[in-house]
Amino acid sequence: MSINRYPVESLIPNLAPKSEFGIREQFSFKFSELLVSSYGFDDTITKIIELVCRTFGWEWGAYWAPDHGFSDRLVCRHYWHSFNNDLSTFAIESTRISIPAHQGFVGRIWGNNSSAWIEDMGDDYAFLRRQGAKACGLMCGYALPVSYTAPDGGQNRLGVLEFYSVVKRQQDAQLPTVANAVGVLVALTVRRIEQEEAMRRMAQIDDLTGLVNRAYFRELFDEACRKAADSQSELAVLYIDLDRFKPINDAFGHDAGNVVLREFGARLRRLAGSNVTARLGGDEFCLLVTATVSEQTLRGLAESVLKAAHDPFHFLGIELVVSASVGISRYPTDGLRPEELLRKADEAMYECKRHQRNGFKFHALHMETTGKLAENKLNEPMQFAVLLRQALLKNELFLQYQPIIDLETGNIAAAEALVRWRLPTGEVVMPDRFIPVAEKEGIVNAIDRWVFRRACADLAQIVEAGLPEFRLHVNMAASNFSDTGVCEELMSIAKAFGIAPSQLCLELTERTIMEHEQSTLVTMQALSVAGFNISLDDFGVGYSSMARLSQLPVRSFKIDRSFVNGLPDNQRHASIVKSLLLLAEDLQISAVAEGVESLVQLNWISKTGVRYVQGFYCGHPCEMNRFMSKLHDQAHLTMPCAGIA
Ligand code: C2E
Ligand code: MG
Ligand code: MG
Repeated sequence: MSINRYPVESLIPNLAPKSEFGIREQFSFKFSELLVSSYGFDDTITKIIELVCRTFGWEWGAYWAPDHGFSDRLVCRHYWHSFNNDLSTFAIESTRISIPAHQGFVGRIWGNNSSAWIEDMGDDYAFLRRQGAKACGLMCGYALPVSYTAPDGGQNRLGVLEFYSVVKRQQDAQLPTVANAVGVLVALTVRRIEQEEAMRRMAQIDDLTGLVNRAYFRELFDEACRKAADSQSELAVLYIDLDRFKPINDAFGHDAGNVVLREFGARLRRLAGSNVTARLGGDEFCLLVTATVSEQTLRGLAESVLKAAHDPFHFLGIELVVSASVGISRYPTDGLRPEELLRKADEAMYECKRHQRNGFKFHALHMETTGKLAENKLNEPMQFAVLLRQALLKNELFLQYQPIIDLETGNIAAAEALVRWRLPTGEVVMPDRFIPVAEKEGIVNAIDRWVFRRACADLAQIVEAGLPEFRLHVNMAASNFSDTGVCEELMSIAKAFGIAPSQLCLELTERTIMEHEQSTLVTMQALSVAGFNISLDDFGVGYSSMARLSQLPVRSFKIDRSFVNGLPDNQRHASIVKSLLLLAEDLQISAVAEGVESLVQLNWISKTGVRYVQGFYCGHPCEMNRFMSKLHDQAHLTMPCAGIA
């Protein structure tokens, strides 16, 4: 086998002067740039690994650090690998083992606190992951300790960085010097970030109780609301205020009061499990339930909180007794934003205090008269249409993407863009409610054009992230197809974002074709010739187009979710789905099963040979940033890992 020699400089384009100093300068420059744009330890270390790999031409890079439970064993905390090589076997092997000091290649670097080069990973018995290395074609590489000299002169060891290549390389004479510089830079960065994180943690915690403090609670609440919106799940917040707390402070002093607060905080944390508990200040606490739970469960939880407050506290042999008033509000019923939900839970808590104390109240059940102004306006058709027109101008529409899974690969092959309308109050209106109005008011084409443009912009981002083949499905209302200029317009929008029409799939309902037959067909032909994919949405519900399906330029249809809904028990639905699939096979078009909500349905469908599925079981619609991270995880581009053997 020939041995390629890679002088370090040649791996860095446009590097002048070609000297060791030049490389270090260049690297430090990029390194500083990276530090400015990164946040948090996980993000920074993964970016550092990627930078080193890209700069010096390594295909694999990873950071090993002591496992928290066993400080003498190292685990692979973060890795990055080039997208051009399938290193998944090696990645899996790396995340599954933990390495003691002095064992294997990485253990030796850690134990000796000095760097080393490895020549033949697949055949070197000292290399613990040689099987994975062999399977992935990794050849040789370099590992270095991440350590720095503390002000007292002692060595602080933090972890080990490793870099491997699929190409047989010879150790470059300059590598140790460059690598040592990298090791020190990384060590100082790791230390700085760890200190920052420790300080941040201190700023997030309430000193007295150890619970989350008010400021951090707001951040967590914000994040929880965003997640709930993306996953269409629910949240609940319990606002807790202790009754008769002040008299304890007045009578027995602050130390006694502190005992009550501290002990109540501890009880609250125990009963809250994985939910967030916070002390907002004084004798006010909050419990955030970050999952969809029934009203009965919330009642049970509130009762436990009351008991936790009512069980006596002990101070210098004295029994102290308080109680609590609890107000509960829920996302999305009572509001969509933390401030609104907190205000409503607080109102409910005060209601409770006014009437009985030592009790709880749900906001929704006890404040029926409080305003749902936006809702009321939306109930008036005229107002609704006016607001909808403004929505476009005021940029109140937004998209969510729902994954379409290819069952052959298990990967997200495409996604459907689904439009939503966020009112200034924060309330989100779903398309089933406003698209019919938009159709009646003649503004649906404008909305669909906005959706198409936004989807193209987002698709360009997905392509940029390394998925050149990714497809987006965009819904198109019937009226778009009466307009003969639509084809050119869509082409020019796609072109402006560098998107090929073949990466877009336009979804039309059967109704579209039935209602606007002649002109629709002409437009469909033009779009198909231009390269756009066309899919029939909600297929099966309007059977008249079935016979004509063979004459239409469609590539796929989506089996309506009303049929998938009844699977596998509903015999009628099962046979409709089977006959739709026979039809698809006959016409050689593909079928997508919509509305798959359970594993049982997925199993049934996969046995019928359907290749593509969409539904809550495979993924809820979510906003672009969340969707990108789903794609990112799937591609194993840069994935922090925490696994141990
Ligand atoms: P669709 O095109 O059939 O979109 C699929 C709908 O099914 C989405 O509802 C999606 O959230 C929902 N869905 C997906 N998986 C499941 C599941 O497992 N169970 C259940 N129960 N539902 C599931 P969404 O977002 O409310 O959209 C409703 C309809 O609004 C869409 O139906 C589409 O006809 C229309 N629409 C959405 N976006 C647009 C758009 O940009 N333009 C036009 N003209 N219509 C749109
Ligand atoms: Mg659709
Ligand atoms: Mg559909």
